[in-house]
Amino acid sequence: MDKKNMSTLSCKLCLHGPTICNGCKGIYCEEHYIEHRQNLGTKLERIISDHDILLDRLTTHANDNDRHRIYNDIDEWKQNNIFNKTHEKLKHTTNDIREKKTTKTYLEQDLEQWSNQIQKLKDSIELLTIKSNDD
Ligand SMILES: [Zn+2]
Ligand SMILES: [Zn+2]
Repeated sequence: MDKKNMSTLSCKLCLHGPTICNGCKGIYCEEHYIEHRQNLGTKLERIISDHDILLDRLTTHANDNDRHRIYNDIDEWKQNNIFNKTHEKLKHTTNDIREKKTTKTYLEQDLEQWSNQIQKLKDSIELLTIKSNDD
């Protein structure tokens, strides 16, 4: 291998290497790859904390149905239905996060997907809350 090819296969930060990240295809040396994974780990922790806050809201809602007696049956049914569906979708994400966290197989794409998913679920709950407060 000539010098030019060598350098394209080296860590951008210290020119040692190469270890290729399967997620972003970035090239790192062993040391900087570990650092790169640690950064992803920090992002994952942030996603998990967002996830827990959302789960908390859903659980609070489930235990707090009495407060919603003021709505008519159809509204209540619709609202519960959305909460249940959101809960169901979140459970799926929870399992995925848990499994990939344990096996450390999460990649950039997973983090992006989870954070989008959680944001979407959060938005649908937010909408519902705003609508309820307007009534
Ligand atoms: Zn990467
Ligand atoms: Zn390096």
